[in-house]
Amino acid sequence: MLKLDKFKRISADKMSLHSYLCSMQGLIADIDLLEEEKKQSESCEYKTTEDDDSLAVRKLYIESYGCQMNFSDSEIVTSILKKEGFGTTSSPEHADVILINTCSIREKAEQTVRNRLNFFNGVKKKNREVTVGVLGCMAERLKSKLLEEEKIVDLVLGPDAYRDLPKLVKKAEEGEKGINTFLSREETYADISPVRLNSNGVTAFISIMRGCDNMCSFCVVPFTRGRERSRDPHSIVQEVQDLFNKGYREVTLLGQNVDSYKWSAEENNKARLNRKNGVDEIVNFANLIELVAKVSPDLRVRFSTSHPKDITDEVLHTMKKYENICNYIHLPAQSGNTRVLELMNRTYSREWYINRVKAIREILGDECGISSDMIAGFCSETEEEHRDTLTLMDYVKYDFSYMFFYSERPGTLAAKKYADDIPLDIKKKRLQEIIEKQREISLERNQANVGKTYKVLVEGKSKRSVEQMQGRNSANKVIIFEGDVAAGSYVNVLVTDCTPATLFGKLQ
Ligand code: SF4
Repeated sequence: MLKLDKFKRISADKMSLHSYLCSMQGLIADIDLLEEEKKQSESCEYKTTEDDDSLAVRKLYIESYGCQMNFSDSEIVTSILKKEGFGTTSSPEHADVILINTCSIREKAEQTVRNRLNFFNGVKKKNREVTVGVLGCMAERLKSKLLEEEKIVDLVLGPDAYRDLPKLVKKAEEGEKGINTFLSREETYADISPVRLNSNGVTAFISIMRGCDNMCSFCVVPFTRGRERSRDPHSIVQEVQDLFNKGYREVTLLGQNVDSYKWSAEENNKARLNRKNGVDEIVNFANLIELVAKVSPDLRVRFSTSHPKDITDEVLHTMKKYENICNYIHLPAQSGNTRVLELMNRTYSREWYINRVKAIREILGDECGISSDMIAGFCSETEEEHRDTLTLMDYVKYDFSYMFFYSERPGTLAAKKYADDIPLDIKKKRLQEIIEKQREISLERNQANVGKTYKVLVEGKSKRSVEQMQGRNSANKVIIFEGDVAAGSYVNVLVTDCTPATLFGKLQ
């Protein structure tokens, strides 16, 4: 059995990383980028609950996989069950309820979950009373099939059904299996304050919307997380204010496509009319990041994930207006070729994407950090079209990227319409070329930072040595420096050296 330190994020069985929402934080450490990214496209990151110091009799153990949205959902689930008197534990052997919050973005992600369920089977043999539940995208995709296929599973809940947990846990403890995979058009869990898990006490993630209305042909998210709905901006600002009061100094606003965030008082029957002229209160993404930035100039604001077809100049100008809105954008391209982008149903062309990058460079300058997602070997992609992806990377000069080869997902448009006809060895060869290209560009971009001084938000001790501290600059780059300063403080660091993944510097 893997002994997990309280805050440890560890790589485990093979799985995907779609959601870059993966916590972009700390994944690309200061080991060889090539090695790291090869690992990324084959492995997974997961988090577990910790031992809390509550005297709660009943204990909850959650294992969360996949994207940051899932990690944030596990914080909401913990909050819902804490209200029912549960404490948390870092060990499934000590739990009364074991929950696994799953990802379904690639076949390997689901295989990981089945392997873990095998392990929990052993736990259940020793403790027959324990309730085992599967949450998240795999639960939503497979529904009752999961109860049929995995006998130890007592509960199956989709991402919009977590309010039903207390009732279904109770039924399961009375011997009745339970399922709820209803996808909602309203649910945003806006009134539930998440219990922060695996927190460094400095940075936190806040989901501002759920679901996705885009129908990228390779993606399962619209089927597993449902239609898009934006959360009440006032509940978001309140959560940000609470975090700031607790000492957090950075928030990342989360959504599958944050640029389509739009909240209207009228549509949400809030009837909160603008006192001045009685018109509806409508809040778009540019308005929202401004509201959050105004909480305090000492609070850094980040967001993910942007969508090339929806990112507006209004958002870019708002970023420029506030020093505390970080100078970094995650803008997944997926491919550099317009025909392949059409097959992916990304709804923009190579030219459109390049024009968005031009706008970012014109308004936010060359220091603005840009990262992407790239898929190698999508259905019918030619060698020449693959080269378009490499030349797009040369044009944009991404600071880093999440890179995968195409993995067909059941039920997606691509699986229904296109043959997965690129041989695996070609997919891997193209992925390798993309990884090596990114490595060169990341090194070049980081070398351009050497000799410059950056304002760094200190996150804590570096993983490399207790003599060193770790933090990030506004462009979301990890900076390691000697010294001993408080986590959550801002310092100026002169960059003296770098690798493709990390900057090293001196306190100023
Ligand atoms: S934007 Fe596309 S890739 Fe991203 S979650 Fe939505 S459907 Fe999936």
